Amino acid sequence: MPKLETRDMHPMFAMNGKDAQKIAAETVRRHARQQPAEASEKARSYALSLLASRDHGLAEKPLALALQAGSFVSARDCSQLIELLKPMPYKPRPAKQTAAPSPQVTDGFYMLDGDYVKVQEARNGSGRLYAKRWDGGSWEYEPGLVRKIAPEMALTAEQAKAWGKLYGNCIYCSLDLTDERSIDAGYGPKCAAKRGLPWG
Ligand SMILES: [Zn+2]
Repeated sequence: MPKLETRDMHPMFAMNGKDAQKIAAETVRRHARQQPAEASEKARSYALSLLASRDHGLAEKPLALALQAGSFVSARDCSQLIELLKPMPYKPRPAKQTAAPSPQVTDGFYMLDGDYVKVQEARNGSGRLYAKRWDGGSWEYEPGLVRKIAPEMALTAEQAKAWGKLYGNCIYCSLDLTDERSIDAGYGPKCAAKRGLPWG
Protein backbone atom coordinates (compact mmCIF):
# COMPACT_ATOMS: atom_id res chain seq x y z
CA MET A 1 0.00 0.00 0.00
CA PRO A 2 1.58 3.33 -1.06
CA LYS A 3 1.68 5.88 1.74
CA LEU A 4 0.04 9.17 0.79
CA GLU A 5 2.18 12.14 1.66
CA THR A 6 0.81 15.63 2.18
CA ARG A 7 3.12 16.99 -0.48
CA ASP A 8 1.64 14.64 -3.08
CA MET A 9 -1.84 15.98 -2.69
CA HIS A 10 -3.78 18.62 -4.51
CA PRO A 11 -3.06 22.11 -3.11
CA MET A 12 -6.64 22.55 -1.97
CA PHE A 13 -6.09 19.81 0.59
CA ALA A 14 -2.84 21.24 1.78
CA MET A 15 -4.44 24.25 3.43
CA ASN A 16 -3.73 23.13 6.92
CA GLY A 17 -1.63 20.22 8.01
CA LYS A 18 -4.20 18.63 10.28
CA ASP A 19 -6.97 18.54 7.66
CA ALA A 20 -4.57 17.28 5.09
CA GLN A 21 -3.51 14.39 7.36
CA LYS A 22 -7.13 13.51 7.99
CA ILE A 23 -8.00 13.50 4.31
CA ALA A 24 -4.91 11.56 3.49
CA ALA A 25 -5.82 8.88 6.02
CA GLU A 26 -9.33 8.68 4.63
CA THR A 27 -8.03 8.36 1.11
CA VAL A 28 -5.76 5.52 2.16
CA ARG A 29 -8.71 3.74 3.78
CA ARG A 30 -10.82 4.22 0.67
CA HIS A 31 -8.06 2.78 -1.45
CA ALA A 32 -7.85 -0.18 0.87
CA ARG A 33 -11.56 -0.84 0.50
CA GLN A 34 -11.33 -0.62 -3.28
CA GLN A 35 -8.36 -2.93 -3.56
CA PRO A 36 -9.56 -6.28 -4.88
CA ALA A 37 -8.95 -9.45 -2.91
CA GLU A 38 -5.39 -10.71 -3.16
CA ALA A 39 -4.64 -14.08 -4.69
CA SER A 40 -3.97 -16.83 -2.14
CA GLU A 41 -0.50 -18.29 -1.76
CA LYS A 42 -1.79 -21.56 -3.16
CA ALA A 43 -3.21 -19.88 -6.27
CA ARG A 44 -0.01 -17.90 -6.74
CA SER A 45 2.23 -20.91 -6.57
CA TYR A 46 -0.05 -22.88 -8.88
CA ALA A 47 0.03 -20.03 -11.41
CA LEU A 48 3.83 -19.89 -11.09
CA SER A 49 4.16 -23.62 -11.68
CA LEU A 50 1.98 -23.31 -14.78
CA LEU A 51 4.10 -20.39 -16.01
CA ALA A 52 7.17 -22.58 -15.56
CA SER A 53 5.80 -25.71 -17.21
CA ARG A 54 3.59 -24.44 -20.04
CA ASP A 55 4.62 -23.11 -23.43
CA HIS A 56 2.77 -19.78 -23.27
CA GLY A 57 4.87 -16.80 -24.37
CA LEU A 58 3.45 -14.70 -21.53
CA ALA A 59 6.63 -14.47 -19.48
CA GLU A 60 7.00 -10.72 -20.10
CA LYS A 61 3.37 -9.84 -19.39
CA PRO A 62 2.87 -7.59 -16.33
CA LEU A 63 0.82 -10.21 -14.52
CA ALA A 64 3.47 -12.88 -14.97
CA LEU A 65 6.18 -10.45 -13.88
CA ALA A 66 4.15 -9.39 -10.83
CA LEU A 67 3.72 -13.03 -9.81
CA GLN A 68 7.39 -13.76 -10.23
CA ALA A 69 8.36 -10.62 -8.30
CA GLY A 70 5.95 -11.47 -5.47
CA SER A 71 4.02 -8.22 -6.03
CA PHE A 72 0.31 -7.77 -5.52
CA VAL A 73 -1.86 -9.89 -7.81
CA SER A 74 -5.61 -10.00 -7.42
CA ALA A 75 -7.37 -13.30 -6.90
CA ARG A 76 -9.40 -12.67 -10.03
CA ASP A 77 -6.39 -11.98 -12.27
CA CYS A 78 -4.60 -14.96 -10.83
CA SER A 79 -7.45 -17.38 -11.47
CA GLN A 80 -7.93 -16.01 -14.99
CA LEU A 81 -4.25 -16.60 -15.66
CA ILE A 82 -4.53 -20.14 -14.31
CA GLU A 83 -7.53 -20.87 -16.55
CA LEU A 84 -5.62 -19.46 -19.50
CA LEU A 85 -2.48 -21.49 -18.85
CA LYS A 86 -4.01 -24.82 -17.87
CA PRO A 87 -4.98 -25.97 -21.40
CA MET A 88 -1.67 -24.80 -22.90
CA PRO A 89 0.87 -27.39 -24.05
CA TYR A 90 3.87 -28.24 -21.93
CA LYS A 91 7.22 -26.70 -22.79
CA PRO A 92 9.47 -28.90 -24.89
CA ARG A 93 12.14 -30.77 -22.96
CA PRO A 94 15.21 -28.72 -22.05
CA ALA A 95 17.48 -28.23 -25.03
CA LYS A 96 20.56 -29.64 -23.31
CA GLN A 97 19.12 -33.15 -23.59
CA THR A 98 19.04 -33.00 -27.36
CA ALA A 99 21.70 -30.39 -28.14
CA ALA A 100 24.68 -32.24 -26.75
CA PRO A 101 24.25 -35.93 -27.38
CA SER A 102 26.69 -37.61 -25.05
CA PRO A 103 26.96 -41.30 -24.40
CA GLN A 104 24.32 -42.12 -21.84
CA VAL A 105 24.23 -44.70 -19.14
CA THR A 106 21.54 -47.22 -20.01
CA ASP A 107 20.22 -50.20 -18.14
CA GLY A 108 22.76 -52.98 -17.93
CA PHE A 109 25.79 -54.08 -15.98
CA TYR A 110 28.79 -52.03 -14.94
CA MET A 111 31.91 -52.34 -12.84
CA LEU A 112 32.54 -49.66 -10.22
CA ASP A 113 35.61 -49.86 -7.98
CA GLY A 114 35.73 -53.61 -8.48
CA ASP A 115 32.03 -54.08 -7.65
CA TYR A 116 29.41 -55.36 -10.04
CA VAL A 117 26.63 -52.80 -10.49
CA LYS A 118 23.27 -53.35 -12.13
CA VAL A 119 21.50 -50.33 -13.62
CA GLN A 120 17.77 -50.69 -14.11
CA GLU A 121 14.93 -48.58 -15.36
CA ALA A 122 12.23 -47.70 -12.83
CA ARG A 123 9.06 -49.68 -13.43
CA ASN A 124 6.80 -46.65 -13.06
CA GLY A 125 7.40 -45.66 -16.68
CA SER A 126 9.33 -42.50 -15.82
CA GLY A 127 12.43 -43.83 -17.56
CA ARG A 128 14.42 -42.99 -14.44
CA LEU A 129 17.41 -45.21 -13.81
CA TYR A 130 18.58 -46.59 -10.50
CA ALA A 131 21.44 -48.85 -9.55
CA LYS A 132 22.09 -51.83 -7.32
CA ARG A 133 25.47 -53.05 -6.14
CA TRP A 134 26.30 -56.72 -5.81
CA ASP A 135 27.28 -57.27 -2.19
CA GLY A 136 28.51 -60.81 -2.82
CA GLY A 137 25.14 -62.41 -2.21
CA SER A 138 22.46 -60.12 -3.57
CA TRP A 139 21.82 -56.94 -5.52
CA GLU A 140 21.41 -54.11 -3.05
CA TYR A 141 19.81 -50.83 -4.04
CA GLU A 142 22.03 -47.88 -3.21
CA PRO A 143 20.58 -44.35 -3.42
CA GLY A 144 22.63 -42.10 -5.70
CA LEU A 145 24.74 -44.97 -7.00
CA VAL A 146 23.46 -44.57 -10.54
CA ARG A 147 25.00 -41.10 -10.71
CA LYS A 148 28.46 -42.57 -10.15
CA ILE A 149 28.11 -44.80 -13.20
CA ALA A 150 29.59 -43.71 -16.54
CA PRO A 151 29.15 -45.40 -19.92
CA GLU A 152 32.81 -46.46 -20.01
CA MET A 153 32.27 -48.56 -16.88
CA ALA A 154 30.08 -50.97 -18.87
CA LEU A 155 30.95 -54.54 -18.05
CA THR A 156 33.62 -56.04 -20.32
CA ALA A 157 33.45 -59.57 -21.66
CA GLU A 158 36.25 -60.48 -19.27
CA GLN A 159 34.34 -59.16 -16.27
CA ALA A 160 31.18 -60.98 -17.36
CA LYS A 161 33.24 -64.14 -17.73
CA ALA A 162 34.72 -63.71 -14.25
CA TRP A 163 31.19 -63.53 -12.84
CA GLY A 164 30.19 -66.68 -14.69
CA LYS A 165 33.19 -68.57 -13.36
CA LEU A 166 32.44 -67.42 -9.83
CA TYR A 167 28.69 -67.96 -9.67
CA GLY A 168 28.00 -70.45 -12.45
CA ASN A 169 25.34 -68.31 -14.08
CA CYS A 170 25.19 -65.72 -16.82
CA ILE A 171 25.26 -62.27 -15.26
CA TYR A 172 23.05 -60.81 -17.99
CA CYS A 173 20.10 -63.19 -17.80
CA SER A 174 20.81 -65.08 -14.55
CA LEU A 175 20.45 -68.46 -16.27
CA ASP A 176 22.70 -71.22 -14.98
CA LEU A 177 25.59 -72.07 -17.24
CA THR A 178 25.00 -75.73 -18.04
CA ASP A 179 26.57 -76.58 -21.36
CA GLU A 180 30.31 -76.77 -21.73
CA ARG A 181 30.69 -73.81 -24.05
CA SER A 182 28.69 -71.52 -21.78
CA ILE A 183 30.67 -72.64 -18.76
CA ASP A 184 33.83 -72.00 -20.69
CA ALA A 185 32.72 -68.55 -21.91
CA GLY A 186 31.26 -67.50 -18.56
CA TYR A 187 28.00 -66.36 -20.16
CA GLY A 188 25.28 -67.81 -22.35
CA PRO A 189 25.11 -67.92 -26.16
CA LYS A 190 22.05 -65.67 -26.49
CA CYS A 191 23.53 -62.96 -24.32
CA ALA A 192 26.84 -63.24 -26.18
CA ALA A 193 25.08 -62.76 -29.53
CA LYS A 194 22.94 -59.91 -28.22
CA ARG A 195 25.95 -58.04 -26.87
CA GLY A 196 28.55 -58.97 -29.46
CA LEU A 197 30.68 -60.82 -26.90
CA PRO A 198 33.32 -63.41 -27.90
CA TRP A 199 31.80 -66.85 -28.24
CA GLY A 200 33.27 -70.31 -28.91
ZN1 LIG B 1 22.57 -64.86 -20.44
